[in-house]
Amino acid sequence: MKVRRRCGGNNWGEIDEQQGGYEGYGRGHLSSSDVNASEARALNADEADVVGQGLARQRGQVENALQGLDRWNQGDQDLFEGVFGDTSPAARAHGAEVLGRMQALNGSYSAENFRVDTGYDGIAYVDPTNPNRIYLGERYFELGGNSQAGVLVHEMSHFNVIGATDDITLAGAGALSRTLMLPPTQALGNAQSYSIYVGCSTVGGLSQCM
Ligand SMILES: [Zn+2]
Repeated sequence: MKVRRRCGGNNWGEIDEQQGGYEGYGRGHLSSSDVNASEARALNADEADVVGQGLARQRGQVENALQGLDRWNQGDQDLFEGVFGDTSPAARAHGAEVLGRMQALNGSYSAENFRVDTGYDGIAYVDPTNPNRIYLGERYFELGGNSQAGVLVHEMSHFNVIGATDDITLAGAGALSRTLMLPPTQALGNAQSYSIYVGCSTVGGLSQCM
C-alpha cells in the first residue's frame, strides 16, 4: 500500500501578494480518508498554462535559494538559520543537495507530469515513491503565483529521491511560526520548511517574508 502525502491542503505559508508577507493559509489537515487518484484527469489547456508558469517561477526561486547557499554571506546564513535553525556545514550541504535535486527535477517537468484530482478537496499531494507525478486539487488554481510555486517546492521535497520530507508542521493559524521553531533535525525533513526557505530567498530574507 502506497503512502501518499496529502499535505492537508494548506499546511504551507502563503505569500500574500497583496500584503507582501506570509500568511497561514489554513483550514486544517484533511481527514485520513484515502485519496482516490483514479478520479485524476490530465490538465486542460488553461490549467497547463498555469502549471507551466508555476514551474518557471519555482525554477527561478530554487535558483535564488541555491545561489544563497553557494554565496553564504551573513544574510544567506541568517535566512538559513531562521528556517532550519542550523548553519553547520552538514545542514548547509543537505539543503543544497535537496534543492539541487529539485532543480534538476524541475527541469525535467512539464504539465504532463500533473493530474487534477477532481475528487480531492485540498491543494496537492504526491506519492513519494513516484517523482514523475504531482496531483493537484482544483483549489491549486485559486492560489497566487508565489503560492503555486511554493506548493511545487513543498510537493517535490516529499519525493524520496529529492528530500523524503514529511509534513511535520500543521495547517492553520501560527503554522509559519511553528515551522520556524522546529528543531533543526525536524526542519531539514519538513516539506514546508523548504517551501518557506525558497520563497524567502526570493524576496530577500526572512524579515521580508514575515
Ligand atoms: Zn506535504
